Amino acid sequence: MRKGGIASLQAVSWRLALGTSMARLVQKFGGSSVKDIEHIRRVAKIVSDSAREGKELVVVVSAMGHTTDELLSLAENVNDRGDQRELDMLLCTGEQVSVALLAMALQKLGLKARSFTGAQAGILTDETHTYARIKTVQPSRVETSLRRGEIAVVAGFQGMTRNSDMTTLGRGGSDTTAVALASALKAECCDIYTDVDGVYTTDPRSYGKARKLHAVSYEEMLELASLGAQVLNARSVELAMRQKMPIRLRSTFDPGDTGTLVTSRELAPDYQICGVALDTNRVSFRLSLTHDFSVNEQGADSEYLHYTNKSERLLEELSSLGLVREQINLVYNGDAVVQVEFNCEKRLAREAKEVLLEYFPESNGAVLTVDTDVARISVVGIGARARHQRGDIIGALSAAAIPVSMVSANSISVSAVVPGKFKDDAVRQLHETFCTAFRSEDS
Ligand code: ASP
Ligand code: MG
Repeated sequence: MRKGGIASLQAVSWRLALGTSMARLVQKFGGSSVKDIEHIRRVAKIVSDSAREGKELVVVVSAMGHTTDELLSLAENVNDRGDQRELDMLLCTGEQVSVALLAMALQKLGLKARSFTGAQAGILTDETHTYARIKTVQPSRVETSLRRGEIAVVAGFQGMTRNSDMTTLGRGGSDTTAVALASALKAECCDIYTDVDGVYTTDPRSYGKARKLHAVSYEEMLELASLGAQVLNARSVELAMRQKMPIRLRSTFDPGDTGTLVTSRELAPDYQICGVALDTNRVSFRLSLTHDFSVNEQGADSEYLHYTNKSERLLEELSSLGLVREQINLVYNGDAVVQVEFNCEKRLAREAKEVLLEYFPESNGAVLTVDTDVARISVVGIGARARHQRGDIIGALSAAAIPVSMVSANSISVSAVVPGKFKDDAVRQLHETFCTAFRSEDS
Protein backbone atom coordinates (compact mmCIF):
# COMPACT_ATOMS: atom_id res chain seq x y z
CA MET A 1 0.00 0.00 0.00
CA ARG A 2 1.21 3.49 -0.78
CA LYS A 3 1.84 6.01 1.92
CA GLY A 4 -1.10 7.59 3.70
CA GLY A 5 -4.71 6.55 3.58
CA ILE A 6 -5.88 3.85 5.86
CA ALA A 7 -2.40 3.00 7.17
CA SER A 8 -1.81 6.41 8.72
CA LEU A 9 -5.36 6.57 10.00
CA GLN A 10 -4.88 3.27 11.75
CA ALA A 11 -1.55 4.40 13.17
CA VAL A 12 -3.26 7.29 14.92
CA SER A 13 -6.18 5.14 16.04
CA TRP A 14 -3.93 2.43 17.46
CA ARG A 15 -1.79 4.99 19.21
CA LEU A 16 -4.96 6.35 20.77
CA ALA A 17 -6.36 2.96 21.66
CA LEU A 18 -3.17 1.55 23.17
CA GLY A 19 -2.13 4.96 24.35
CA THR A 20 0.07 5.67 27.27
CA SER A 21 -1.70 5.24 30.59
CA MET A 22 -4.02 8.17 29.89
CA ALA A 23 -4.54 9.37 26.35
CA ARG A 24 -5.70 12.96 26.31
CA LEU A 25 -8.23 13.74 23.66
CA VAL A 26 -10.20 16.80 22.59
CA GLN A 27 -13.62 16.06 21.11
CA LYS A 28 -15.63 18.79 19.44
CA PHE A 29 -19.34 18.62 18.59
CA GLY A 30 -20.94 21.04 16.15
CA GLY A 31 -24.35 22.71 16.33
CA SER A 32 -26.18 19.96 14.44
CA SER A 33 -24.83 17.38 16.92
CA VAL A 34 -26.32 19.24 19.90
CA LYS A 35 -29.44 20.67 18.30
CA ASP A 36 -31.85 19.42 20.96
CA ILE A 37 -31.91 17.51 24.24
CA GLU A 38 -32.09 14.15 22.53
CA HIS A 39 -28.96 14.98 20.53
CA ILE A 40 -27.18 16.27 23.62
CA ARG A 41 -27.87 12.90 25.26
CA ARG A 42 -26.41 11.14 22.25
CA VAL A 43 -23.26 13.27 22.50
CA ALA A 44 -23.04 12.53 26.23
CA LYS A 45 -23.12 8.83 25.37
CA ILE A 46 -20.23 9.16 22.87
CA VAL A 47 -18.23 11.14 25.42
CA SER A 48 -18.96 8.69 28.19
CA ASP A 49 -17.90 5.72 26.02
CA SER A 50 -14.54 7.43 25.43
CA ALA A 51 -14.22 8.26 29.12
CA ARG A 52 -14.83 4.63 30.04
CA GLU A 53 -12.03 3.64 27.66
CA GLY A 54 -9.78 5.59 30.00
CA LYS A 55 -9.31 8.78 28.01
CA GLU A 56 -8.78 12.18 29.57
CA LEU A 57 -11.35 14.31 27.81
CA VAL A 58 -11.91 17.92 26.91
CA VAL A 59 -15.15 18.41 25.03
CA VAL A 60 -15.75 21.56 22.99
CA VAL A 61 -19.29 22.34 21.87
CA SER A 62 -21.04 24.77 19.53
CA ALA A 63 -24.35 26.49 20.11
CA MET A 64 -27.47 24.33 19.70
CA GLY A 65 -28.68 24.00 16.09
CA HIS A 66 -29.22 27.37 14.44
CA THR A 67 -28.91 29.38 17.65
CA THR A 68 -26.10 31.61 16.35
CA ASP A 69 -28.13 32.53 13.25
CA GLU A 70 -31.15 33.27 15.41
CA LEU A 71 -29.13 35.49 17.73
CA LEU A 72 -27.69 37.33 14.73
CA SER A 73 -31.13 37.99 13.32
CA LEU A 74 -32.37 39.27 16.69
CA ALA A 75 -29.48 41.71 16.75
CA GLU A 76 -30.08 42.75 13.13
CA ASN A 77 -33.70 43.56 13.99
CA VAL A 78 -32.73 45.77 16.90
CA ASN A 79 -29.88 47.62 15.20
CA ASP A 80 -28.34 46.60 11.89
CA ARG A 81 -25.30 48.74 12.55
CA GLY A 82 -24.91 47.70 16.14
CA ASP A 83 -21.65 47.72 18.02
CA GLN A 84 -19.63 44.54 17.42
CA ARG A 85 -18.76 44.28 21.10
CA GLU A 86 -22.43 43.96 21.96
CA LEU A 87 -22.87 41.40 19.22
CA ASP A 88 -20.15 39.26 20.79
CA MET A 89 -21.76 39.59 24.20
CA LEU A 90 -24.93 38.21 22.63
CA LEU A 91 -23.35 35.46 20.50
CA CYS A 92 -21.36 34.05 23.43
CA THR A 93 -24.61 33.06 25.14
CA GLY A 94 -25.30 30.34 22.55
CA GLU A 95 -22.35 28.13 23.45
CA GLN A 96 -22.90 28.68 27.16
CA VAL A 97 -26.27 27.00 26.94
CA SER A 98 -24.73 23.93 25.29
CA VAL A 99 -21.84 23.47 27.73
CA ALA A 100 -24.08 23.67 30.77
CA LEU A 101 -26.59 21.19 29.34
CA LEU A 102 -23.90 18.76 28.19
CA ALA A 103 -22.17 18.86 31.60
CA MET A 104 -25.53 18.10 33.21
CA ALA A 105 -26.18 15.24 30.79
CA LEU A 106 -22.75 13.75 31.56
CA GLN A 107 -23.37 14.04 35.29
CA LYS A 108 -26.64 12.26 34.81
CA LEU A 109 -24.68 9.35 33.30
CA GLY A 110 -22.66 9.21 36.50
CA LEU A 111 -19.58 11.00 35.19
CA LYS A 112 -17.77 13.93 36.72
CA ALA A 113 -18.02 16.91 34.38
CA ARG A 114 -17.51 20.66 34.60
CA SER A 115 -18.34 23.35 32.07
CA PHE A 116 -16.20 26.37 31.19
CA THR A 117 -16.68 29.50 29.10
CA GLY A 118 -13.93 30.32 26.61
CA ALA A 119 -12.57 32.89 29.05
CA GLN A 120 -12.51 30.41 31.92
CA ALA A 121 -10.70 27.94 29.68
CA GLY A 122 -8.04 30.59 29.10
CA ILE A 123 -8.74 31.40 25.44
CA LEU A 124 -7.22 34.86 25.07
CA THR A 125 -7.80 36.76 21.84
CA ASP A 126 -7.09 40.05 20.14
CA GLU A 127 -9.75 42.80 20.11
CA THR A 128 -11.26 42.12 16.68
CA HIS A 129 -14.85 41.60 17.78
CA THR A 130 -16.80 38.94 15.82
CA TYR A 131 -13.62 37.76 14.07
CA ALA A 132 -11.07 37.60 16.86
CA ARG A 133 -7.84 35.66 16.61
CA ILE A 134 -6.60 33.51 19.47
CA LYS A 135 -3.35 34.93 20.86
CA THR A 136 -2.63 32.49 23.66
CA VAL A 137 -4.31 29.68 25.55
CA GLN A 138 -3.81 29.45 29.31
CA PRO A 139 -5.86 26.42 30.24
CA SER A 140 -4.88 26.07 33.91
CA ARG A 141 -8.48 25.65 35.09
CA VAL A 142 -9.06 22.95 32.50
CA GLU A 143 -5.86 21.19 33.60
CA THR A 144 -7.01 21.26 37.20
CA SER A 145 -10.38 19.87 36.20
CA LEU A 146 -8.72 17.00 34.30
CA ARG A 147 -6.47 16.28 37.25
CA ARG A 148 -9.57 15.92 39.40
CA GLY A 149 -10.82 13.28 37.00
CA GLU A 150 -13.50 15.50 35.48
CA ILE A 151 -14.51 15.84 31.85
CA ALA A 152 -13.95 19.48 30.94
CA VAL A 153 -16.71 20.85 28.71
CA VAL A 154 -15.64 24.07 27.01
CA ALA A 155 -17.70 26.63 25.08
CA GLY A 156 -16.38 26.85 21.52
CA PHE A 157 -16.21 29.97 19.34
CA GLN A 158 -15.51 32.38 22.20
CA GLY A 159 -12.64 34.01 23.98
CA MET A 160 -11.68 37.05 25.99
CA THR A 161 -9.53 40.11 25.32
CA ARG A 162 -6.89 41.26 27.77
CA ASN A 163 -9.51 43.76 29.03
CA SER A 164 -11.87 40.87 29.83
CA ASP A 165 -14.25 41.68 26.99
CA MET A 166 -15.95 38.70 25.38
CA THR A 167 -15.04 37.98 21.77
CA THR A 168 -16.05 35.45 19.14
CA LEU A 169 -13.77 33.81 16.59
CA GLY A 170 -15.80 34.07 13.37
CA ARG A 171 -18.42 31.64 12.08
CA GLY A 172 -17.49 28.02 12.60
CA GLY A 173 -14.92 29.11 15.18
CA SER A 174 -15.56 26.23 17.60
CA ASP A 175 -13.27 24.08 15.45
CA THR A 176 -10.50 26.57 16.17
CA THR A 177 -11.21 26.48 19.90
CA ALA A 178 -10.90 22.69 19.80
CA VAL A 179 -7.59 22.66 17.91
CA ALA A 180 -6.14 25.46 20.07
CA LEU A 181 -7.03 23.60 23.26
CA ALA A 182 -5.77 20.29 21.88
CA SER A 183 -2.40 21.82 21.18
CA ALA A 184 -2.18 23.80 24.45
CA LEU A 185 -3.09 20.66 26.42
CA LYS A 186 -0.79 18.45 24.33
CA ALA A 187 -3.65 16.15 23.38
CA GLU A 188 -2.86 13.30 21.02
CA CYS A 189 -5.56 14.20 18.58
CA CYS A 190 -8.48 16.53 18.01
CA ASP A 191 -11.67 14.71 17.03
CA ILE A 192 -14.22 16.92 15.31
CA TYR A 193 -17.67 15.36 15.22
CA THR A 194 -20.22 16.65 12.76
CA ASP A 195 -23.21 15.48 10.72
CA VAL A 196 -21.11 14.00 7.91
CA ASP A 197 -18.68 11.13 8.39
CA GLY A 198 -15.62 12.79 6.92
CA VAL A 199 -14.18 15.07 4.29
CA TYR A 200 -15.57 14.40 0.83
CA THR A 201 -14.48 15.41 -2.65
CA THR A 202 -17.39 17.85 -2.50
CA ASP A 203 -20.29 18.40 -0.11
CA PRO A 204 -22.10 15.01 -0.03
CA ARG A 205 -25.27 16.74 1.17
CA SER A 206 -25.63 18.47 -2.17
CA TYR A 207 -23.91 16.04 -4.54
CA GLY A 208 -24.58 12.34 -4.10
CA LYS A 209 -21.54 11.13 -6.04
CA ALA A 210 -19.07 12.86 -3.73
CA ARG A 211 -16.38 10.48 -2.45
CA LYS A 212 -14.93 10.26 0.99
CA LEU A 213 -11.24 10.96 1.54
CA HIS A 214 -9.85 8.74 4.31
CA ALA A 215 -6.90 11.04 4.80
CA VAL A 216 -5.98 14.47 3.46
CA SER A 217 -3.01 16.79 4.02
CA TYR A 218 -3.30 19.98 6.04
CA GLU A 219 -2.38 22.00 2.95
CA GLU A 220 -5.14 20.57 0.81
CA MET A 221 -7.68 20.70 3.64
CA LEU A 222 -6.78 24.33 4.29
CA GLU A 223 -7.32 25.14 0.64
CA LEU A 224 -10.66 23.30 0.55
CA ALA A 225 -11.81 25.05 3.74
CA SER A 226 -10.63 28.49 2.63
CA LEU A 227 -12.44 28.04 -0.66
CA GLY A 228 -15.77 27.29 0.97
CA ALA A 229 -15.88 23.62 2.05
CA GLN A 230 -18.00 23.95 5.16
CA VAL A 231 -16.78 20.82 6.83
CA LEU A 232 -13.94 22.45 8.80
CA ASN A 233 -13.14 26.02 9.69
CA ALA A 234 -10.09 27.27 7.74
CA ARG A 235 -8.38 28.88 10.72
CA SER A 236 -8.60 25.64 12.67
CA VAL A 237 -6.79 23.80 9.88
CA GLU A 238 -4.14 26.52 9.70
CA LEU A 239 -3.54 26.15 13.42
CA ALA A 240 -3.49 22.35 13.30
CA MET A 241 -0.94 22.52 10.48
CA ARG A 242 1.29 24.87 12.49
CA GLN A 243 1.01 22.78 15.64
CA LYS A 244 1.11 19.43 13.81
CA MET A 245 -2.08 18.42 15.57
CA PRO A 246 -3.87 15.52 13.84
CA ILE A 247 -7.57 16.16 13.27
CA ARG A 248 -10.04 13.34 12.77
CA LEU A 249 -13.27 14.42 11.22
CA ARG A 250 -16.03 12.02 12.15
CA SER A 251 -19.76 11.55 12.44
CA THR A 252 -21.81 11.98 15.60
CA PHE A 253 -24.35 9.67 14.02
CA ASP A 254 -21.85 6.91 13.22
CA PRO A 255 -19.18 7.26 15.91
CA GLY A 256 -17.66 3.87 15.07
CA ASP A 257 -16.56 5.15 11.65
CA THR A 258 -12.95 6.38 11.64
CA GLY A 259 -13.83 9.37 9.43
CA THR A 260 -11.12 11.43 7.72
CA LEU A 261 -7.67 12.05 9.12
CA VAL A 262 -6.23 15.50 8.42
CA THR A 263 -2.48 15.13 8.68
CA SER A 264 0.91 16.10 7.29
CA ARG A 265 1.72 15.84 3.61
CA GLU A 266 4.09 12.92 4.24
CA LEU A 267 1.28 10.80 5.65
CA ALA A 268 -1.50 11.79 3.27
CA PRO A 269 -2.11 10.33 -0.18
CA ASP A 270 -0.87 12.24 -3.24
CA TYR A 271 -4.13 13.26 -4.78
CA GLN A 272 -3.84 15.02 -8.09
CA ILE A 273 -7.23 16.62 -7.47
CA CYS A 274 -8.63 16.18 -3.95
CA GLY A 275 -11.90 17.97 -4.38
CA VAL A 276 -14.23 20.66 -5.65
CA ALA A 277 -15.16 23.40 -3.20
CA LEU A 278 -18.17 25.64 -3.53
CA ASP A 279 -18.61 28.97 -1.79
CA THR A 280 -21.98 30.70 -2.04
CA ASN A 281 -21.16 33.14 0.71
CA ARG A 282 -19.66 35.70 -1.65
CA VAL A 283 -20.53 38.96 -3.35
CA SER A 284 -19.02 40.13 -6.58
CA PHE A 285 -18.27 43.76 -7.40
CA ARG A 286 -17.58 45.44 -10.70
CA LEU A 287 -16.72 49.10 -10.80
CA SER A 288 -16.55 50.68 -14.26
CA LEU A 289 -14.72 53.95 -14.57
CA THR A 290 -15.71 56.03 -17.54
CA HIS A 291 -13.01 58.69 -17.61
CA ASP A 292 -11.45 59.00 -21.00
CA PHE A 293 -7.72 59.61 -20.73
CA SER A 294 -7.06 59.07 -24.37
CA VAL A 295 -7.79 62.72 -25.12
CA ASN A 296 -4.59 64.47 -24.36
CA GLU A 297 -6.09 67.76 -23.33
CA GLN A 298 -4.45 70.14 -20.96
CA GLY A 299 -4.95 68.93 -17.43
CA ALA A 300 -5.59 65.37 -18.47
CA ASP A 301 -2.18 64.31 -17.17
CA SER A 302 -2.76 65.51 -13.67
CA GLU A 303 -6.21 64.01 -13.63
CA TYR A 304 -4.73 60.74 -14.84
CA LEU A 305 -2.15 60.77 -12.07
CA HIS A 306 -4.77 61.59 -9.50
CA TYR A 307 -6.80 58.70 -10.80
CA THR A 308 -3.94 56.21 -10.73
CA ASN A 309 -3.08 57.20 -7.17
CA LYS A 310 -6.66 56.67 -6.22
CA SER A 311 -6.65 53.17 -7.67
CA GLU A 312 -3.49 52.37 -5.73
CA ARG A 313 -4.99 53.61 -2.47
CA LEU A 314 -8.21 51.77 -3.22
CA LEU A 315 -6.26 48.54 -3.62
CA GLU A 316 -4.46 49.13 -0.36
CA GLU A 317 -7.67 49.79 1.47
CA LEU A 318 -9.35 46.71 0.01
CA SER A 319 -6.34 44.62 1.05
CA SER A 320 -6.56 45.98 4.57
CA LEU A 321 -10.17 44.76 4.72
CA GLY A 322 -8.72 41.30 4.18
CA LEU A 323 -9.12 40.97 0.43
CA VAL A 324 -6.33 39.21 -1.38
CA ARG A 325 -4.74 41.70 -3.72
CA GLU A 326 -3.90 39.13 -6.37
CA GLN A 327 -7.59 38.39 -6.66
CA ILE A 328 -8.60 41.94 -7.45
CA ASN A 329 -8.86 42.19 -11.22
CA LEU A 330 -7.90 45.50 -12.80
CA VAL A 331 -8.83 46.13 -16.40
CA TYR A 332 -6.73 48.72 -18.20
CA ASN A 333 -7.30 50.85 -21.22
CA GLY A 334 -3.77 51.80 -22.17
CA ASP A 335 -2.29 52.79 -18.82
CA ALA A 336 -5.55 53.77 -17.21
CA VAL A 337 -7.64 51.57 -14.96
CA VAL A 338 -11.11 51.39 -16.44
CA GLN A 339 -12.53 48.58 -14.37
CA VAL A 340 -12.00 47.11 -10.90
CA GLU A 341 -13.44 43.66 -10.34
CA PHE A 342 -13.32 41.35 -7.34
CA ASN A 343 -15.41 39.17 -5.06
CA CYS A 344 -15.35 38.97 -1.29
CA GLU A 345 -17.01 37.28 1.65
CA LYS A 346 -20.51 38.57 2.38
CA ARG A 347 -19.44 39.76 5.82
CA LEU A 348 -17.06 42.25 4.18
CA ALA A 349 -19.47 43.43 1.47
CA ARG A 350 -20.82 46.53 3.15
CA GLU A 351 -17.38 47.89 3.96
CA ALA A 352 -16.04 47.00 0.53
CA LYS A 353 -18.88 48.90 -1.11
CA GLU A 354 -18.34 51.93 1.09
CA VAL A 355 -14.64 51.98 0.26
CA LEU A 356 -15.31 51.73 -3.49
CA LEU A 357 -17.81 54.56 -3.48
CA GLU A 358 -15.61 56.74 -1.33
CA TYR A 359 -12.83 56.60 -3.93
CA PHE A 360 -14.99 56.58 -7.02
CA PRO A 361 -18.38 58.18 -6.31
CA GLU A 362 -21.15 57.28 -8.71
CA SER A 363 -21.85 60.99 -9.07
CA ASN A 364 -18.50 61.23 -10.93
CA GLY A 365 -19.54 58.72 -13.55
CA ALA A 366 -18.33 55.51 -11.89
CA VAL A 367 -20.78 52.66 -12.31
CA LEU A 368 -20.89 50.04 -9.58
CA THR A 369 -22.51 46.64 -10.13
CA VAL A 370 -22.95 44.46 -7.06
CA ASP A 371 -24.06 40.86 -7.49
CA THR A 372 -24.94 38.77 -4.45
CA ASP A 373 -26.20 35.78 -6.41
CA VAL A 374 -22.84 34.31 -7.30
CA ALA A 375 -20.91 31.18 -6.41
CA ARG A 376 -17.19 30.62 -6.42
CA ILE A 377 -16.23 27.16 -7.54
CA SER A 378 -12.74 25.79 -7.04
CA VAL A 379 -10.78 22.73 -8.02
CA VAL A 380 -8.21 21.82 -5.36
CA GLY A 381 -5.11 19.63 -5.61
CA ILE A 382 -1.55 19.69 -6.91
CA GLY A 383 -2.79 18.79 -10.38
CA ALA A 384 -5.12 21.81 -10.59
CA ARG A 385 -2.50 24.20 -11.88
CA ALA A 386 -1.53 22.05 -14.84
CA ARG A 387 -5.20 21.51 -15.66
CA HIS A 388 -5.67 25.25 -15.57
CA GLN A 389 -2.68 25.92 -17.80
CA ARG A 390 -4.07 23.53 -20.33
CA GLY A 391 -7.41 25.28 -20.12
CA ASP A 392 -9.15 22.08 -18.90
CA ILE A 393 -11.05 23.70 -16.05
CA ILE A 394 -12.48 26.64 -17.95
CA GLY A 395 -13.02 24.31 -20.88
CA ALA A 396 -15.10 21.93 -18.76
CA LEU A 397 -17.31 24.76 -17.53
CA SER A 398 -17.72 26.25 -20.99
CA ALA A 399 -18.56 22.83 -22.42
CA ALA A 400 -21.50 22.74 -20.01
CA ALA A 401 -22.49 26.27 -21.10
CA ILE A 402 -21.71 27.71 -17.67
CA PRO A 403 -20.69 31.38 -17.88
CA VAL A 404 -17.46 32.05 -16.01
CA SER A 405 -15.90 35.21 -14.62
CA MET A 406 -13.04 36.11 -12.31
CA VAL A 407 -10.72 33.16 -12.69
CA SER A 408 -7.85 32.98 -10.22
CA ALA A 409 -5.24 30.34 -9.48
CA ASN A 410 -2.43 29.47 -7.12
CA SER A 411 -0.17 26.45 -6.79
CA ILE A 412 -2.88 24.06 -5.55
CA SER A 413 -6.20 25.50 -6.65
CA VAL A 414 -8.08 27.20 -9.45
CA SER A 415 -11.26 29.17 -8.81
CA ALA A 416 -13.90 30.73 -11.00
CA VAL A 417 -17.01 32.74 -10.25
CA VAL A 418 -20.27 31.56 -11.80
CA PRO A 419 -23.83 32.90 -11.55
CA GLY A 420 -25.62 31.43 -8.51
CA LYS A 421 -28.12 29.47 -10.57
CA PHE A 422 -25.31 27.44 -12.18
CA LYS A 423 -23.69 26.36 -8.94
CA ASP A 424 -24.96 22.78 -8.88
CA ASP A 425 -24.22 22.29 -12.58
CA ALA A 426 -20.72 23.61 -12.02
CA VAL A 427 -20.07 21.21 -9.13
CA ARG A 428 -21.38 18.26 -11.12
CA GLN A 429 -19.40 19.17 -14.21
CA LEU A 430 -16.08 19.72 -12.43
CA HIS A 431 -16.54 16.70 -10.17
CA GLU A 432 -17.36 14.44 -13.10
CA THR A 433 -14.42 15.74 -15.09
CA PHE A 434 -11.76 15.73 -12.38
CA CYS A 435 -12.77 13.66 -9.34
CA THR A 436 -13.94 10.38 -10.82
CA ALA A 437 -10.48 9.15 -11.73
CA PHE A 438 -9.41 8.33 -8.16
CA ARG A 439 -7.20 5.32 -7.88
CA SER A 440 -8.57 2.97 -5.27
CA GLU A 441 -5.55 3.42 -2.99
CA ASP A 442 -6.20 7.19 -3.00
CA SER A 443 -9.33 6.77 -0.98
N1 ASP B 1 -21.95 28.68 16.85
C1 ASP B 1 -20.97 29.28 16.00
C2 ASP B 1 -21.47 29.34 14.56
O1 ASP B 1 -22.59 28.93 14.30
C3 ASP B 1 -19.64 28.64 16.08
C4 ASP B 1 -19.55 27.23 15.58
O2 ASP B 1 -20.56 26.58 15.37
O3 ASP B 1 -18.43 26.75 15.39
O4 ASP B 1 -20.80 29.81 13.70
MG1 MG C 1 -18.79 23.94 11.93
